[in-house]
Amino acid sequence: MEIAQNFYSKHFTIHALTDSVLAAVAKDGGWAISNAGLIDLGGQIIVFDTFMTPSAAEDLRKFSVEHLGRPPTMIVNSHYHNDHIWGNQVFADEAVILSSLQTRELITTAGQEEFDYYSANSALRLEALQGEFQTAPEEEKKDLLLWIEYYQALVEELPHTRVHLPQITFENRFKIHGTKYSAECFCFEGGHTGSDTVLYLAETGIVLMSDLLFVNCHPYLADGDLFKLLTTLGKLSQFDADQFVPGHGAVGTRKELDLMIEYVEQCIEISQSLVKSGDADEDGIKEVRVPAQFQHWQFPRFFQINIQFLCQALKDG
Ligand SMILES: [Zn+2]
Repeated sequence: MEIAQNFYSKHFTIHALTDSVLAAVAKDGGWAISNAGLIDLGGQIIVFDTFMTPSAAEDLRKFSVEHLGRPPTMIVNSHYHNDHIWGNQVFADEAVILSSLQTRELITTAGQEEFDYYSANSALRLEALQGEFQTAPEEEKKDLLLWIEYYQALVEELPHTRVHLPQITFENRFKIHGTKYSAECFCFEGGHTGSDTVLYLAETGIVLMSDLLFVNCHPYLADGDLFKLLTTLGKLSQFDADQFVPGHGAVGTRKELDLMIEYVEQCIEISQSLVKSGDADEDGIKEVRVPAQFQHWQFPRFFQINIQFLCQALKDG
């Protein structure tokens, strides 16, 4: 995998998966927070997800102009979460924004709540985390620093962030035809969020997975349906592809997709046994250790959140 050497952004690195498919992988401590894709189909340049901040998105637009000869013409929003769409405004004058119909609706409902929450609370959260950092044990500091940078980005960028809505929506599938390649959006219901779209590049065997895949970091599973997520991941395993670009973490292969499936299966197993033994309360969940093969993954605090969410979902039936 080549890395574009003659470009620098403090927010992400560019990985050329082919000469026309580029993955922008978020850097720790940068303000991209999630990954994005930049794809030159010939005649159309697509951006898949626009990061969490306009600053990071500006760098991607600049890369497109300098290295592909012009700004992106189409934006695909994979799902409504803030770290995937709040860079939309940077591209809005020059590109058309697409998403599934449900994602567009979620941006205006749950997404608006998220925007209001972060606008009201980010400064306080930042202060609290900085306090926590002072007394935190050494092994927790690296993770805490990432969260501090996350809230720092929100405090600095939210005052000039405007959420731009998708102008074109689709329900299940949507194909984009360039002069050299084509790309197809597939929409899945209820996996990571109410609606998650992947971008499949059949000619090059690449799937841009967004948050249906996390690599070397705990996924956030508390806004979806884990059983539907497993079904969706099973379907994506059938795609003829060998590179999978996650929403968070480095570009993966089938091995990483299989590990994600295993993580979800283990979370379900752990939660089922907690509920069965009557230990699915706060104290019981606190006792659960991260399974050995996931212990080196980033964002360990998501693990308990996931187990808690799943226990509640199982109890609710
Ligand atoms: Zn997400």
